[in-house]
Amino acid sequence: MLKSGYQKDPEFVKKINWPINEYSKVHGILYYTFNEQLRICVPNTPECNSIIKNTLLDKIHTSLGHAGFTKTLYGLMNNFYWPKITRDTREYCKTCAVCQQAKNSIQKPNGLLHPFLIPNKPFTYLTMDFLALPAIIAHATKVHYSHVWTIVCRLTKYTLVLPLPDGCTADTLVSLFMSHAYSHFGYPLDIVTDNNTLFQSAVW
Ligand SMILES: [Zn+2]
Repeated sequence: MLKSGYQKDPEFVKKINWPINEYSKVHGILYYTFNEQLRICVPNTPECNSIIKNTLLDKIHTSLGHAGFTKTLYGLMNNFYWPKITRDTREYCKTCAVCQQAKNSIQKPNGLLHPFLIPNKPFTYLTMDFLALPAIIAHATKVHYSHVWTIVCRLTKYTLVLPLPDGCTADTLVSLFMSHAYSHFGYPLDIVTDNNTLFQSAVW
């Protein structure tokens, strides 16, 4: 969808065919480099807008605990880019049903999403989620990556984004978690996930 979308997007069609400056093409996917970070370009087509952009906005906004516009935008811009990304993110946050409900409710929003405990130490209370991406093949190892794993600290909103190899098992997740999170922050007290089967393993 991304690859065919570039050809239909008047902005990206030139960039994908002649990537210059901050644009680069890897395995047919267009990347925009900003702050030395490669960000996947999402084209402006009805399909990409309704499926890819909406899914990304939803996953990132939700995995950040229904964060406000700025945090959602930064979360998104870590890995993705399109020309109207700021406008789209603002619009999405403004119209999110859960945020609206929380704002309109005169009660405390306990139990709206999850009855979150209030963390007082960074990286003790985490939210985890998976995000499907266009498949990428690592040059050196030839390993295919088609998902990223987001681990968000619910206190600071610090986010780890880890690429996941295809056919990843619960054991792979545990070893990634140990080397990228546990080794720096210690073991968390509470983890909220979307009940993905990979997280239902006894080790969690
Ligand atoms: Zn929301």
